[in-house]
Amino acid sequence: MSLLDSIYQEAILAHYKSPKNRGVLDPFDVKQDGVNPSCGDQITLYVRAEGGTVAAVTFEGEGCAISQAATSLMTEAVMGLPVEDALQLAEEFRQMLRGGEPGPSLGELALMQSVAKLPARVKCAMLPFVTLERALERLDNDQV
Ligand code: ZN
Repeated sequence: MSLLDSIYQEAILAHYKSPKNRGVLDPFDVKQDGVNPSCGDQITLYVRAEGGTVAAVTFEGEGCAISQAATSLMTEAVMGLPVEDALQLAEEFRQMLRGGEPGPSLGELALMQSVAKLPARVKCAMLPFVTLERALERLDNDQV
């Protein structure tokens, strides 16, 4: 493993051990479960929207370090973004996990870039964004 990879791994572990935005959001507009059966990861996202913006996101869950750290990073990244931009970010993250270069809008999510080299773990890293996409889709149907 390169030095850079081990630095990334430390940052991922830090998010796993001290996740951001963990807990139930009160009040929330959408609660969305997501599972990755191939690894046993599961998360529940709570999303509150205000005026087309992702006002707040929190999560509960359990699973591997990659899935839980990715969820922590995701909540930080999308909080305050217009829904459209949050969906765009999900797509950029997906492209990075397919081996693309991370764009500047990914910010700290670029820490997950090395996961692209571990095909069996890509679903772990993608879980929070797949779950967010479903949550935002439901928000769209329910509210707007
Ligand atoms: Zn996993």
